[in-house]
Amino acid sequence: MKRHPRLALVVISFALLAVLPPTGAFAQNPPPKPRPPLTVAEASDFKATSRYADVMAFLRELQMQSSYLRVEFLGTSTEGYDIPLVVVGHPVPASPNDPRTAGKAVIYIQANIHAGEVEGKEASLMLIRDLFQRTRLPYLDRLVILVAPIFNVDGNEKISPANRRQQPGPEEGVGVRPNGQNLDLNRDAMKAESPEIRGLLENVLNRWDPVLLVDCHTTNGAHHEQTVTYAWPLNPNGDRDLIEFQRSNMLPAVERIMKAAYGTLAVGYGMFRDPRAPEKGWQTLEPQPRYLTNYIGLRNRLAILDENYVHADYKTRVISNYNFLLAVLDYSYANAGLLLKATAEADARTVARGLAAKPAGLFGLDFDLRALPNPVTILGFEMESVQREGAPFPQMKPSDRKKAYTVPYYADFVPKTIVPLPAGYLISPPNAGVVENLVRHGLLVERLSAPAKLEVQTFKIKEIKAAANFYQGHRLNAVSGEYAAETKEFPAGTIFVTLAQPLANVAAYLLEPQSDDGLVVWNFFDRDLVGQWARQPSPCPVYKLMAPVPLVKETVR
Ligand SMILES: [Zn+2]
Repeated sequence: MKRHPRLALVVISFALLAVLPPTGAFAQNPPPKPRPPLTVAEASDFKATSRYADVMAFLRELQMQSSYLRVEFLGTSTEGYDIPLVVVGHPVPASPNDPRTAGKAVIYIQANIHAGEVEGKEASLMLIRDLFQRTRLPYLDRLVILVAPIFNVDGNEKISPANRRQQPGPEEGVGVRPNGQNLDLNRDAMKAESPEIRGLLENVLNRWDPVLLVDCHTTNGAHHEQTVTYAWPLNPNGDRDLIEFQRSNMLPAVERIMKAAYGTLAVGYGMFRDPRAPEKGWQTLEPQPRYLTNYIGLRNRLAILDENYVHADYKTRVISNYNFLLAVLDYSYANAGLLLKATAEADARTVARGLAAKPAGLFGLDFDLRALPNPVTILGFEMESVQREGAPFPQMKPSDRKKAYTVPYYADFVPKTIVPLPAGYLISPPNAGVVENLVRHGLLVERLSAPAKLEVQTFKIKEIKAAANFYQGHRLNAVSGEYAAETKEFPAGTIFVTLAQPLANVAAYLLEPQSDDGLVVWNFFDRDLVGQWARQPSPCPVYKLMAPVPLVKETVR
């Protein structure tokens, strides 16, 4: 068919008019942008949470609209899902070594490690989208933001209204806590048995070296008005100055920003030590580095555990988590240089300690929990004793009468039993599973290329007790014994791990024979600890070299 040229022109003009702004101010106004996507939480009026396909579709839509983000994958889950890691920057860095982003602080936000606790997934997706709004763009002048919105995909895809019924909404349900191996990923930071934690170590922590990690969760316990609670790395075998900086400086500042800029209340994480007598104090969680944020402290990096308040409705939990992330970014943007400096100084202190001719470092084997110098104020409720029908005894329940409790805050772990840190650890016989674990953590691992006669401390095990019950697929070992100084011949092939490296606190925690979360505990050395038909345990195959000496060695990794 032959088209009339003038008619075609008219049609085109009408088509153009349809998209022109009515004022005719075409020169000033850009053409309308596509609408930014809504999360499943927003689109469902907070009745549902995203599945994996929703998350990936949301990210694809954002990528069509903005050049500020790129999607990497940090690993593949047991059930076969590629786990997205969103890189947000201006410009978006091609890799961690991209010189255009040198000097920026890398912030890593992780959500959904427990896939029943979905607020972080929805809030972090909203955050990625909203980072491209004009007022949020300045963050990207100083920060590169990494987001893993759906860390535990396997758990997420088991969404059911039957999961976590203690929390009000989302009514269409949430995922489950474990990953596809039935492991709790927030107990896997040391043994690193899951593809998720292995991917985190390799493709986030060792590759991008984020200065700060934020791990998003939801609480299970106490009743209060604050809708976000938080914790910092709690293990005192991490750098003490860095711990002190976070609990006394950084997090109180984030709490103030939350209240002033976003009208959301936050407080340090905890439970009442005695729900019948809240005035006895508020107590934080356990200090072991199997918990991810505690582990990050051992790496001389900053970490925040975000625990959203379970008794708030779903929408409040998501918005509170979103506001918390904004407050963290506000603080990080204002203090990017300080965060980089504080962590670099902690690295320098750690390396200097390992290089000292005489060992000055100490390692805590167990801990006392003490109150911080300042009390904490929990905006709680008067408690009352309620006898439920069929319950064996009355339970303490919050009434609807508000009550503020200003009480001691038990959140300072202090070493109780201490041992000296060596210059390095020797592992003999070498153990492939141990070496693999150490390398995964990013440690420098070396091997003697010639035999060496060395003065070492040997831990002579008197007793090994395996736990009666399984925990994360293990019967955790507890060992007792004593150290003896001896001169010992180590053959070529012996593994050596120096403490003159930035990750020395991780190395010590994994290798100290009596460490409460080390590789002895997690059964990595079981075959070496008791020989066939032996009546006595063997000495621990990890020996402590107390002063630096020249060694002929080569790098394993
Ligand atoms: Zn959790």
